[in-house]
Amino acid sequence: MGRSQELLNRACSVIPGGVNSPVRAYKAVGGQPPFIARGKGAVLVDEEGREYLDCVCSWGALAIGHANEQVVAAIEETARAGTTFGAPTAREVVLAEAICDRVPSVEKVRLCSSGTEATMHAIRLARGVTGRDLIVKMDGCYHGAHDALLVGAGSGVATFGIPGSPGIPEPVAAQTLVIPFNDLSSVERVFAEHGDRIAAVILEPIAGNMGCIPPRPGYLEGLRAVTKQSGALLIFDEVMCGFRVARGSAQERYGVMPDLTTMGKIVGGGLPLAAFGGRAEYMDHLAPLGPVYQAGTLSGNPLAVAAALATLEQLTPEVYERFEHIGNRIEQEFLIPAASKGLSYHRVGSMWTLFFRSDRPHNFAEVKEADQQAFGKFFNRALELGVYLPASQFEAVFLSSVMTDKQVDSLIVRLQQALES
Ligand code: PMP
Repeated sequence: MGRSQELLNRACSVIPGGVNSPVRAYKAVGGQPPFIARGKGAVLVDEEGREYLDCVCSWGALAIGHANEQVVAAIEETARAGTTFGAPTAREVVLAEAICDRVPSVEKVRLCSSGTEATMHAIRLARGVTGRDLIVKMDGCYHGAHDALLVGAGSGVATFGIPGSPGIPEPVAAQTLVIPFNDLSSVERVFAEHGDRIAAVILEPIAGNMGCIPPRPGYLEGLRAVTKQSGALLIFDEVMCGFRVARGSAQERYGVMPDLTTMGKIVGGGLPLAAFGGRAEYMDHLAPLGPVYQAGTLSGNPLAVAAALATLEQLTPEVYERFEHIGNRIEQEFLIPAASKGLSYHRVGSMWTLFFRSDRPHNFAEVKEADQQAFGKFFNRALELGVYLPASQFEAVFLSSVMTDKQVDSLIVRLQQALES
């Protein structure tokens, strides 16, 4: 028995399903997940010593690869001065300034520890600001595992949601209206029916949780216009695409400004840190200035803040050029040839998905028509060839900027082989 198998067996008796987050299990593709021992740059090494080119990057959290020297040094140095105080620290101010400087719509920001927390707090804030209860979300967008937003799969246009998980009370789920992604007419319909009760529309401006699906031209602009007219807040959940698709995130790339933005993953430099921010007039409703309560013992944790700053400092214009260069090579040399064989894809910079479906999907219902078995076969063959892909057709691939041209050459060859065999 291999070491990963041995560890999984032990894990299964003390951790539900053997994993601390369900996507880590290989349920959708069959087989067993390798246990990861370490990573350096664009390479992961498992407990058996096998090496993989990392195309997951901790679900998008790593922009500049594993064990980046500056990030590691910042964490080490900070840890020596104490790991948590539950009190204000100088570096938090620098990080807040750096986020506000980069993300165009963000005037004030608050730090928390996970993307789930960020969206949970943003929803409460939107409700507190507007005095309204309903939330509109898009089918197939994922915003974390809390009650208000774990609603969606299979729900119809503008109908009241059903619980996406046992344990979410029906009356809570009923406050979330689920409509298809990329469809402005559904947005208009839901606002025509419920407009004066809608506190916020939340979406991933580039969907990453139903595979990578970019917004259709005019979609984000349309959402901006409808929400503005009705007095609902527009929330961009940039946990996945933030700091990846442009220095100022998707809102900069598409030139559409939300009222609130949620951030996570890259902004934390690989440590547990997330954030939500937006216009000062809304953020100032938060305690202690205003009545909307939000808090966290480890919010703005010194180690996480140090990793965040060391990462943001390294996200230079050259890194964004590198993301485009690597992504473009994958597109030209792998995705376009694959599309000529009856598959389809989307790519935005360094995030992409190959869909096992001939027409490009633009929403979750269309992604669900993809051939899951064919994806599973491709995934498992790629894994054997040393390519670590996300273990689901519903997840996007993320690459790090430190993947060398030689590694990109090798990745393309292996992906082609995985598809052919
Ligand atoms: N929003 C989006 C867009 C995400 O992709 C995720 C996680 N994949 C979350 C929120 C939740 O973040 P976390 O897992 O850090 O709670």
